Amino acid sequence: QQRSTPISRLSQDAYLRRLASTLAVLEQRDGKLNPSSLASITAAQKLGGSIHGFLAGANAQPAAAEAAKVPGLEKVIYVDNASYDKGLPENYAPLLLENIKKGSYTHVIAGHSAFGKNLLPRVAALLDVQQISDITDIEGEDTFIRPIYAGNAILTVQSTDATKVITVRGTAFQNTTSEGGSAALEEGVDPKAESTTTWVSEDLAKSDRPELATAERVVSGGRGLKSKEEFDRVIPPLADALGAAIGASRAAVDSGFADNSLQVGQTGKNVAPQLYLCAGISGAIQHLAGMKDSKVIAAINKDADAPIFQVADVGLVGDLFEKVPELTEKVKSS
Ligand code: FAD
Repeated sequence: QQRSTPISRLSQDAYLRRLASTLAVLEQRDGKLNPSSLASITAAQKLGGSIHGFLAGANAQPAAAEAAKVPGLEKVIYVDNASYDKGLPENYAPLLLENIKKGSYTHVIAGHSAFGKNLLPRVAALLDVQQISDITDIEGEDTFIRPIYAGNAILTVQSTDATKVITVRGTAFQNTTSEGGSAALEEGVDPKAESTTTWVSEDLAKSDRPELATAERVVSGGRGLKSKEEFDRVIPPLADALGAAIGASRAAVDSGFADNSLQVGQTGKNVAPQLYLCAGISGAIQHLAGMKDSKVIAAINKDADAPIFQVADVGLVGDLFEKVPELTEKVKSS
């Protein structure tokens, strides 16, 4: 009698696990799969059950063929239609809804990127379920972990919704393998829903450096850099010497030292590189929210009491205008 509860719970878990089926919503640009969107597959693998990938756009098939090689996917569903090319949520949400209904998925997962954040709340509303945002861990099929208050508290969310619609933090579900799988390709349903929204244009920052959100190393500058000229003189040479992406604090972005797309933190990007090296950044909680999961944090600040030193693994108290060029020369000659 005493053992009946755990055993029946165990078999119920096993039963649910078999029924779990996840649609991992992937991103593509010009027919190329966006590797950072593979985090949704890593998260789906943690849930167990069957996993289907989903892609749409003018040239979705080549990206779908790339996705088919990612281990863990049973099938990749794609829709070739230019209306979905830029992931406009007004056009994409009815498309995704039809494909979710067709597959009767228990979970729909996308990255917590601009695309996922735009799209999934709409899809959740259309399904009349709760959106679960920016999760960093999965405890079970209905229980998820997410940071709140800029990462100062961790929330455990339990959902009773029939379909769980989830965005995942990329740095918490990094995907390391994109070869070895052989998923089937299948054309999805295209409702060709009418939309009053059309894509006009985009202005993308171009850079040959690694992408900030997925870079192995990041060199960030803050208000301590004093001006855009100084930021550009001091930070890029060290980033180049380390093969790193460039990041910035919000104060540096707001002061015009660095582009918006480089902001790290609560209202910027989340990064978790092997090395996060920052100079002239005080370490406000909103900045820490975006980088404190980095493996090694190194900080240069002239104020020994700056809060950044409380999270830094390596700290250097000194004038960044002296220390950063010195470090750059050392890295170059090593
Ligand atoms: P400061 O706090 O001014 O620090 C500059 C540092 O440079 C100081 O520690 C100083 O000692 C040091 N310094 C100055 N000169 C030198 C020198 N010559 N050599 C060495 N060190 C020097 N911030 C973010 O970064 N990302 C976010 O996403 C973000 N989101 C926010 C969201 C909300 C809702 C709010 C309210 C705030 C947010 N902020 C964010 C802002 C955040 O609170 C801080 O204001 C910001 O991070 C400060 O940037 P900073 O460290 O570059 O500047």
